Amino acid sequence: MCCNGVLFRDVELQPGDDAGKLKALGMPVRGKVGKFSQPCTALGEDCRCRIYADRPTRCRQFECLLLLDVIAGETDVDPALKIIRSTRRKADKVLKLMREIGDTNEKSSVSVRFRKIGIRFETGDIDAWLEQKSEEELYDLFGQLTLAVHELNGVLNQKFYPQG
Ligand code: SF4
Repeated sequence: MCCNGVLFRDVELQPGDDAGKLKALGMPVRGKVGKFSQPCTALGEDCRCRIYADRPTRCRQFECLLLLDVIAGETDVDPALKIIRSTRRKADKVLKLMREIGDTNEKSSVSVRFRKIGIRFETGDIDAWLEQKSEEELYDLFGQLTLAVHELNGVLNQKFYPQG
């Protein structure tokens, strides 16, 4: 979830990171500061980082709150794995609802996709989706999606983002 667009929308390079090398490794680094979007293109189907030895600083440094709690002995491994499985189910539900609405923007993070979908509902820009679903169905799905995102963000804030 650290690399697939659930927790983060991008990774910003830090002093010492080699943007040229990352680009040569196929990373879509962009901008003056240098960053790349999530879901990360280096994340393999097997959930491993394709450029692990050369991953940028942020990727090396990040440890989620749950991991920190396990390291500190405040949470055992089994309950931590249970929380991860349950959170992944919440994220899967969000992604499924996005697809049901008709959003196919799989290359963007969950937060970016949700923001863009919300703007389309707010501005009534949903004609393309009306070919597959009625307006009532779409607004119902958007309501479900909003609740699912709220639930997901709740657990991410509580269990995964380190304080501060
Ligand atoms: S570079 Fe590797 S560790 Fe960093 S976000 Fe991508 S897959 Fe994850």
